[in-house]
Amino acid sequence: MIGMDATALDNLREALRGPLVTPQDAEYDEIRSVYNAMIDRRPAAIARCTGTADVRTTIAFARQTGVEVAVRGGGHSGPGLCLIDGGLTLDLSPTRWVRVDPVNRTAQVGGGSLLGDLDHETHTFGLGVPAGINSTTGVGGLTLGGGHGHLTRKYGLTIDSLVAADVVLADGSVVTTTEKEHPDLLWALRGGGGNFGVVTSFTFRLHPVHTVGVAATVWPVEQTQDVLRWYREFLPAAPEDLNGFFAVMAVPPAPPFPEPLHGRKVCAVIWCYTGGLEGGRLDDVLSVVNDPAPPAFHFATPMPYPALQTMFDELVPKGLQWYWRGDFFDTVSDEAAAVHERFGRELPTGLSTMHLYPVDGAAHDAAPGETAWAYRDATWSGVIAGIDPDPANAGLIRQWCVDYWSALHPHSMGGAYVNFLGESGDTDSVRATYRDNYARLAAVKHTYDPDNFFHANQNIPPAA
Ligand SMILES: Cc1cc2nc3c(=O)[nH]c(=O)nc-3n(C[C@H](O)[C@H](O)[C@H](O)COP(=O)(O)OP(=O)(O)OC[C@H]3O[C@@H](n4cnc5c(N)ncnc54)[C@H](O)[C@@H]3O)c2cc1C
Repeated sequence: MIGMDATALDNLREALRGPLVTPQDAEYDEIRSVYNAMIDRRPAAIARCTGTADVRTTIAFARQTGVEVAVRGGGHSGPGLCLIDGGLTLDLSPTRWVRVDPVNRTAQVGGGSLLGDLDHETHTFGLGVPAGINSTTGVGGLTLGGGHGHLTRKYGLTIDSLVAADVVLADGSVVTTTEKEHPDLLWALRGGGGNFGVVTSFTFRLHPVHTVGVAATVWPVEQTQDVLRWYREFLPAAPEDLNGFFAVMAVPPAPPFPEPLHGRKVCAVIWCYTGGLEGGRLDDVLSVVNDPAPPAFHFATPMPYPALQTMFDELVPKGLQWYWRGDFFDTVSDEAAAVHERFGRELPTGLSTMHLYPVDGAAHDAAPGETAWAYRDATWSGVIAGIDPDPANAGLIRQWCVDYWSALHPHSMGGAYVNFLGESGDTDSVRATYRDNYARLAAVKHTYDPDNFFHANQNIPPAA
């Protein structure tokens, strides 16, 4: 090892095509900032990689100097996995590109792209990839964790559409993985997180999606238990064209919500319908929203899919305080419904929320061991997120989240979606995430990264 002194950094700067940013640079604070403002770490350097060559150069440099490496995709992870104090961030932000092949219905996507980049390019062909609900999220971290959102019941998890990836491994070599080449690596990338290498390009199968029916139904928070008892039966039996995630939340102070409701604590379902919209079909499908209790507000409209994908972006811009925790659920027990109502009534801030994302429908088509994602028998992936702009409220939102999670966890399946693990480095939580797939993941890790070079993630240490 040569150590990471000024000369070594100068050599790295010269070798990279993208800029190397260090604390001496004026833009350092902006570049090191991540989505969650609760995270404030100071890497020794940030290598802004424009492509595979820069990624290989950065990995070779880290190998030579012994500096710890963290990989940044969209910078959205709750625990700030892409930053290590005193480490080197391999930043894929400049690697944002999308190439659509409309004939074969595939898209190749650069490793640092955001969901909005992908939606924008595929939408022009009336195609899309099932992914998350905010356009500012990184394709990289979301995909490697699994990826769920408005199209999950119809088209499955994001990983179910992942057909190939170009990966720079820990030894600097480059492989393309498909179901035929390095199939164990593709299996692990489908849910195993950032443990196995740097993905410089993802290839997705595309699906028809253009204009979708979007609706929001809100009920008073006092109605949470009634609504949940209805929702837990209705949604799993509904056609796969209908997705609806459940939330406890405060009504956002913005249209389409009427002013008297702004800030009111409610429970809600946000719907996305991919079936035909002609002849008032959306209203027919959603006429059931009156069944559990009269809604305080119901709004439905057709919308281009990318408009739905960007709908919540302004509500949660970069720079807020976030603390989140998750769990998978196969049902919502009466006891769990009571917990949701209690903590919904005690929402600590206007942006704090709990979401239950459906992971049934087409997401159940794959068997439990078919991909690294181990909860194909779950019906919902839940997340509790304490959110607020004011750093003075960091303790308050964290405590609400921890208390809510502690009360709810006994009614869960015992593990969480890897992208909803609030903190890093907790082996028990990571094991609970991967259940029976954990041992195989550790074996694949041993094959591709025996030294645990990529450890700034929800880590799966290599099998001995
Ligand atoms: C506002 C918001 C909304 C969200 N909504 C959803 C949702 O609807 N559905 C959902 O499934 N998840 C959702 N998430 C969770 C999201 O999937 C995770 O936060 C995910 O980690 C974000 O990925 P990223 O690339 O932006 O983050 P980063 O912090 O950049 O990366 C996260 C992890 O992935 C690794 N990584 C990223 N890119 C690569 C790459 N190209 N190669 C190798 N490793 C890589 C990093 O090293 C790190 O370990 C949401 C998060 C936020 C903040």
